[in-house]
Amino acid sequence: MSATEPRLKRERKCSREIFERAEKILVGGVNSPVRAFRSVGGEPLIIQRGSGAHLYDADGNELLDYVCSWGAMILGHANPAISAAIADQAQNGTSFGVTTELEVELATLITQAIPFIEKIRFVSSGTEATMSAVRLARGVTKRDFIVKFEGCYHGHADSFLSQAGSGLATMGIAECPGVPQALAALTLNVPYNDLPSVERVFAENKDKIAAVIVEPIAANMGVVSPSMDFLKGLRQISQHNGALLIVDEVITGFRLRYGSVQDMLGIVADLTTLGKIIGGGVPVAAYGGRAELMNHVAPLGPVYQAGTLAGNPLAMRAGIAALKQLTKPGLYDEMAQLAQRLVLGLRSELEEAGIPAQINAIGSLSTVFFTAEPVRNYGDAKRSDTKRYARFFREMLDRGIFLAPSQFEAVFVSAVHTSADIARTLAAARESLQAIAADSGVKS
Ligand SMILES: *Cc1c(COP(=O)(O)O)cnc(C)c1O
Repeated sequence: MSATEPRLKRERKCSREIFERAEKILVGGVNSPVRAFRSVGGEPLIIQRGSGAHLYDADGNELLDYVCSWGAMILGHANPAISAAIADQAQNGTSFGVTTELEVELATLITQAIPFIEKIRFVSSGTEATMSAVRLARGVTKRDFIVKFEGCYHGHADSFLSQAGSGLATMGIAECPGVPQALAALTLNVPYNDLPSVERVFAENKDKIAAVIVEPIAANMGVVSPSMDFLKGLRQISQHNGALLIVDEVITGFRLRYGSVQDMLGIVADLTTLGKIIGGGVPVAAYGGRAELMNHVAPLGPVYQAGTLAGNPLAMRAGIAALKQLTKPGLYDEMAQLAQRLVLGLRSELEEAGIPAQINAIGSLSTVFFTAEPVRNYGDAKRSDTKRYARFFREMLDRGIFLAPSQFEAVFVSAVHTSADIARTLAAARESLQAIAADSGVKS
């Protein structure tokens, strides 16, 4: 497809018909809210298959994918080695409910890459990982409160659903009905990048805070990097107050380098959570940390946590096949370079169109915020013009480029995107932004 070819080839008739059926039987036609495209409008996608960086909808339209299953598909869709590993395992059984050597193998790969994770427990979703890490922190410290940051998302467990960025921000949900007030009251929300506020909540809740949980690079209010001393400050404050630091790397783990971003940012968490990439596109997540802490988890300790399909063989095989490919020399640098070209190109297209925006970016992650002011926290992110983002999203989708269906998410460049893909994206962005500028009279 040439870069200037403007519109999708086929009417989305089959997709529409399938979505109509989906809406009758699945809540909102989806199994996760942001997929419903409520904040960006237009018709939700129905995808039939994926290959590399490309998706194909039910009508046969090809789309260039920058959602990549919310970052999980860092090696692209239908990666041959991952597909072969899954197919091979399927011949040998898909779940046994007892330990396999595969779990030892994936655990070994992860702990070799992240040595401060001495012991690990596999679960099936990022939500389970963060929820279990918090339970462990509460169990070990015998305290009830947790500190989290506005706009950070840690999954949909009860404790995390206030000011939780991402899907909730997209839906305009600040507090979630169904979460008991007594439980919500134990979560103390603080602005991201704001150490004085962290100091203050610790002073106000002396000896009551079990843990601070943070995204080391926030990617669920759009991408927001930590300021210079933010994470080091959190490390010191939590340690000083006898609270644990939980670093939620469900997005960042194996995303910016092979392993954790914590070494790069100069911190070591007490507990780390992983997900998305470590499962190679099959449901796997994990939490881990020092052995002395992890030994409090059942069966060694009294903090109970379990899972029928945890450490599932199909998922372990997919995860192993993914991590093995991520050790390829230069892979992360190449992804970062491509992403940087995308970001620089988008900046100049935005400038050319006279549209005020910020692009926050690190490595293969980025977000275009439609606001004139820098975005350093959730409050800043929420000042973005979400209607303009919605328009941009739809213009890009019409040109075959699939960006996240929300202002508060990241663009994920994968290891299978190419320079031709970036060029095509920038050409589409140019047309899209010019169309927006023309309609809104941004530029005469
Ligand atoms: C996606 C995500 C989660 C939740 O993971 P699920 O597998 O969707 O439950 C938790 N934390 C962060 C940082 C995430 O990005």
